[in-house]
Amino acid sequence: MGFDRRDSGEQGHEVVLAVAAHPDDLDFSVSATVALWARQGAEVYYVVCTDGERGFQEELPISERIHLRREEQRAAAQTVGAKDVIFLGHTDGELANTPKLQEDLVKVMRRYRPTRVMAADPANQAFDSFYRFHPDHRAAAVALYDALYPAVGNPHFFPHLIELGYLPHTPREVYFFGTEKPNVWIDISDTIGLKMRALLCHESQIGPERAGEISKYVRERAEQVGSERNLPYADAYRRLEIPR
Ligand SMILES: [Zn+2]
Repeated sequence: MGFDRRDSGEQGHEVVLAVAAHPDDLDFSVSATVALWARQGAEVYYVVCTDGERGFQEELPISERIHLRREEQRAAAQTVGAKDVIFLGHTDGELANTPKLQEDLVKVMRRYRPTRVMAADPANQAFDSFYRFHPDHRAAAVALYDALYPAVGNPHFFPHLIELGYLPHTPREVYFFGTEKPNVWIDISDTIGLKMRALLCHESQIGPERAGEISKYVRERAEQVGSERNLPYADAYRRLEIPR
C-alpha cells in the first residue's frame, strides 16, 4: 500500500471542513452532524464566504453588523465543538463563482487539509424555496464543487499558493446537504439539542420570540428525514468520493 498523505500522522483522524455562504447557514444545515462528529474526535472547521452583513432591518454601521454576525457564528460553532471559523469576507448578496472565490476555497482546503468537506448540493436546483435557493447559497455550492475538482489537488491550479506553502491536497469525500438524492443518513438524536442552542446564538437573526417556532421547525424536519430510515431524528446527505 502506498503512502497516503491524507492519513499521515494519526490514522483515521478526520478533519472536516464545512462551507456555506452566510453565518447561520451551517447551523441550520449541518450543526447536529458536526456536534456528533466532534464528540467522536473529528476536528471541524467552518468556512463562511460572506459576513451576512445585509441580514438586518436595523440601521447599524456595516462594521458593527459584520462584527455581530462573526461573533454569533463563532459562538454557534463553539457550541457544537467546531474548532474555528474562517471568514472569507465576500460581500453578502453578491457572492459569485469567480476565480477569487475558487482561490479562497482552494487556499483554505490546502491549509486545513480536510479528509471530508461539507457543502450545499449544487445538483439541487429545485428553486422551490427563496431561502434555500438564495443566490449566495447557489454560488457557494457550485464554487466549492468546482474547487474540489480538479483545482485543489492539482499543482498547476493557483501555483502561487504553493510558493506560500499551501500544497495540493485532495479531500477523500464530500457530504452535500440540502440534497434531493441522499445516500447517507446520520442519527442526530443525541445532538439535536445542541443544534438548537447553536441556532439561538444567532440573536440578530433569531430573537427569543422566534425560538419556539424555530425549534418546532428543526425537530419536525429532522423527524421527517429520520422517518426515511427509521431514526428518531436525522440529517441526510449525498456523499460523493473525490477523484485523485
Ligand atoms: Zn444563508
